[in-house]
Amino acid sequence: MARYAKVIVDISLEKLDRTFTYRIPGALGDALQPGMEVKVPFGNANRQIAGYVLELTDTAEYDEGRLKEILAISPKGMQIEGQLIRLAAWMRRAYGCTMIQALKTVLPVKRQMQEKQRRQVYLVPSRDEAERILTELERKSQPARFRVMAALLDKPVWEYGELLKTCHVAPEVLRKMEELAYLSVKSQVVFRKSLPGEEAIVAGETPGVCRLNRAQRQVADGILQGLEAGDLRPCLLRGVTGSGKTEVYMELIGEVLRKGRQAIVLIPEIALTYQTVRRFYRRFGHKVAVLHSRLSQGERHDQFELARKGKIQVMIGPRSALFAPFSNLGMIVIDEEHENSYKSEITPRYHARETAIYRAELSGALVVMGSATPSVDAYYRALRGEYRLFTMEERVEKRPLPKATVVDLRKELMEGNRSVFSGILREKLNDRLKKREQTLLFLNRRGLAGFVTCRSCGHVVKCSHCDVSLTLHKNGRMICHYCGHEEPAAKRCPACGSAYMGALRAGTQQIEEALYREFPGIRVLRMDADTTRTRDAYEEILGKFSAGEADVLLGTQMIVKGHDFPGVTLVGALAADLSLHASDYRAAERTFQLLAQAAGRAGRGEKPGEVVIQTYSPEHYSIETAAGQDYPAFYQREILYRKLMGYPPAWGLLAVYISGPQEERLDMGAAAVRAVLDRLNKEEELQIIGPAVGAVSRVQDQYRRVIYIKGEQEERLIALREALEPFLEAECFASLHIQFDRNPMNGY
Ligand code: ADP
Ligand code: ZN
Ligand code: ZN
Repeated sequence: MARYAKVIVDISLEKLDRTFTYRIPGALGDALQPGMEVKVPFGNANRQIAGYVLELTDTAEYDEGRLKEILAISPKGMQIEGQLIRLAAWMRRAYGCTMIQALKTVLPVKRQMQEKQRRQVYLVPSRDEAERILTELERKSQPARFRVMAALLDKPVWEYGELLKTCHVAPEVLRKMEELAYLSVKSQVVFRKSLPGEEAIVAGETPGVCRLNRAQRQVADGILQGLEAGDLRPCLLRGVTGSGKTEVYMELIGEVLRKGRQAIVLIPEIALTYQTVRRFYRRFGHKVAVLHSRLSQGERHDQFELARKGKIQVMIGPRSALFAPFSNLGMIVIDEEHENSYKSEITPRYHARETAIYRAELSGALVVMGSATPSVDAYYRALRGEYRLFTMEERVEKRPLPKATVVDLRKELMEGNRSVFSGILREKLNDRLKKREQTLLFLNRRGLAGFVTCRSCGHVVKCSHCDVSLTLHKNGRMICHYCGHEEPAAKRCPACGSAYMGALRAGTQQIEEALYREFPGIRVLRMDADTTRTRDAYEEILGKFSAGEADVLLGTQMIVKGHDFPGVTLVGALAADLSLHASDYRAAERTFQLLAQAAGRAGRGEKPGEVVIQTYSPEHYSIETAAGQDYPAFYQREILYRKLMGYPPAWGLLAVYISGPQEERLDMGAAAVRAVLDRLNKEEELQIIGPAVGAVSRVQDQYRRVIYIKGEQEERLIALREALEPFLEAECFASLHIQFDRNPMNGY
């Protein structure tokens, strides 16, 4: 039983850093938990005030005798702030960070700007009374007050700023007059709306309710029946692309709202907001609010306030929407559950799925997640019965799944084709151009410039210092974008000696040029990091493509994520195995997901679709199974590998990221961390690997090292991290930055 509690007495972000330590009286004992509201004595007069328990500890910074005691646990039960504080406490332990970092992640950020407050000035006395005051002000010769009074008699309500300007007076004058009850100043918060034009969407369209088909009905009923029976296990819906998962979510949310509860809908990233959000608006109208990454702090805060005040019931957004302060949360939907963006890349590096499940537990809500290609992690848990599993194997209205063709790029070269387009892709693309149907071409690689590859064996030239492919630049040199290493362009393949090197210049820009060159008259829209710097650009490109203003939409992975283009009948993956070259244990999973999702973009309209997958590794299981849209087959192969290697989800993995400006010191520090870990792991229950150089060895002059710890039981990893943390306070670690990442997804 903990002896002390850290209590926060005012939850506004600026004050988060100030907590007060109280003794826990024996009578409260084990009942006290983080997040609870308590009554505590405060200040010299020991005024009784309310506070929230942030943390329970066994040590106090002050001497015991000077500490005050908690008086009681508030009978109001867990308020929403309390729930979020509990969530923060859980995150701190699950992911490794300070309590303040966790709190700043979960509590709505206080408004920093005040300008959106609308202030108005009202005349208080009756007209007769005001006339009398006016004469008196004139008699006493107080011209400033006189002008204000006259203005208010003229028009009894003024905008604050306008009144000041019109009367040429200082705010001080109004304040004095307010004290005299001549006038009153009222502030009214104006809530900002988030998406431009959303009113138009709501006003212009009929509510979108569509009857669920049998498969959808079965899933929805199954989930709801479980709920009725008190089964609050998270539900995983694996439904092929176009099977109508979104309609199922909306049906479930409709039920939740009918019960007077609220729902959070997580979608992977800004890329999805436009089309998905539109559907939710059509269904739920003004009950919906949207968070997206381009909102200002103030705007985000407004959205959260709308949720807290009960003005909206559905919050849609990326992972941070998880912290919407709904007081009676009934459901959390996680769409495209497998997406990497659900994992935070800053401390606390939380995963939205796990965090959603814990938040749902606190408020008795249900988590429903869906994907055509669930993460191996989620599917593993579903098969073990931790989640309930639902499946939809068919597209709505029996639309066929696309037919896939895998093209071996090595053979293409042997047959003398040096273009980035294989014979088959060229033929099918020409056919689409003739029929005026649309094509998506994508390159599953971020970045623009060409990487250097051998076209005989598929070998990719990597930096000798980092595990990152080198990029060919115009000056004929190959450069590593992470460490800056440079070397002359390879003339021969280091693996097989072939002279066909670097010919595949697979940047989206080069492919665009090749399209114009090889398909005269073609209309291409390119979408990548370069052409979508602004939100408008992004929507403009999508809009143009939807309107049929181009034959081909060419881009990086961002074009395959969740968009619904009914006119597309052909999808081409130009170099499908590029993502297999990433050096982490999830490379095959990511490749499968990208290809299966990309294939899912074809044939969503009336006409059936086709997919062409160009690759150097046609025999790789992630490519074979993606071509067949066979998730279970992929999963079977992948989970074997994970079990064999002791990777998540079979085992837990904890990464310790260590960085610093001086390499020798960093190496010494990392070795010291390793030594402490070994000491704590005397029984050798856990496997410790490293320190190794991070996949990206140096970023902005900070060198990076990483230590991986693997263990069959995740709880053991958490315990080890907690045991390690006090050691990290030592002087020798002062110049280092040390962070934790449990079950990392994005590499370091
Ligand atoms: P998913 O989320 O599984 O990819 P969606 O929910 O986006 O699938 O549905 C795919 C398309 O089918 C959408 O255009 C949607 O409006 C339509 N749709 C979904 N359910 C039905 C239904 N029951 N009847 C008719 N059309 C439907
Ligand atoms: Zn490098
Ligand atoms: Zn080679």
